[in-house]
Amino acid sequence: MVLIVGLTGGIGSGKSLVGEYFADLGAKVLDADEISRRVIERGSEGFDRVVATFGDAILRDGDIDRRALAERIFGNSAERAKLEGIIHPLVREAFESTAASLSGDDVLVYEIPLLAETGAATRFDFIITVETDLPVRTQRLKKRGLLAADIEARVRAQATPEERMSVAGYVLTNNGTPDELLREVEYVWEKILPGLQRAQN
Ligand code: ATP
Repeated sequence: MVLIVGLTGGIGSGKSLVGEYFADLGAKVLDADEISRRVIERGSEGFDRVVATFGDAILRDGDIDRRALAERIFGNSAERAKLEGIIHPLVREAFESTAASLSGDDVLVYEIPLLAETGAATRFDFIITVETDLPVRTQRLKKRGLLAADIEARVRAQATPEERMSVAGYVLTNNGTPDELLREVEYVWEKILPGLQRAQN
């Protein structure tokens, strides 16, 4: 049977890298962040609804300016709820349509940063969290050009490692080299996921 795996982790923990490794091994990989950008691209239903709700001020060169939109909802829970009310159902729809297109023993890995926060855990057959010590994450993200203050603000807004681990069936640790991470991912792919699939059949 198709196995649907939720992949979470804090900012800069290495979710995308783990997603790439799973894709190389043969999983179908979806990224919730990427889908949430796609569903409000120009020409989409989501685009029309966001502009109808928030006005032309959030547009830049005809596209939704995600930074302007983020500023608009920052610290304003009513505005945030309105935006999420548009985007979340569209993201879910895109996810479910991919899930429905799979067959046989396909594995779908869904990268979702806020899995522990949004109560989405029940949708998955198995949950993996990528946990990386904060100083390591901070150093890697700084290399990518992020500012320490922005990293701290994001970390504060996210679930704690304990909260993520409490919903996860497996913890991938990413304090070492990419090769070490790859070996862990291979272990999960070869030793953990097939057993779960057999148990479902
Ligand atoms: P975000 O929360 O921002 O989406 P993420 O959890 O998807 O991040 P990645 O983008 O995979 O994390 O990794 C964060 C950064 O750390 C990237 O620049 C990535 O190349 C780097 N990185 C990830 N794992 C390692 C590693 N084991 N060694 C060195 N650099 C790494």
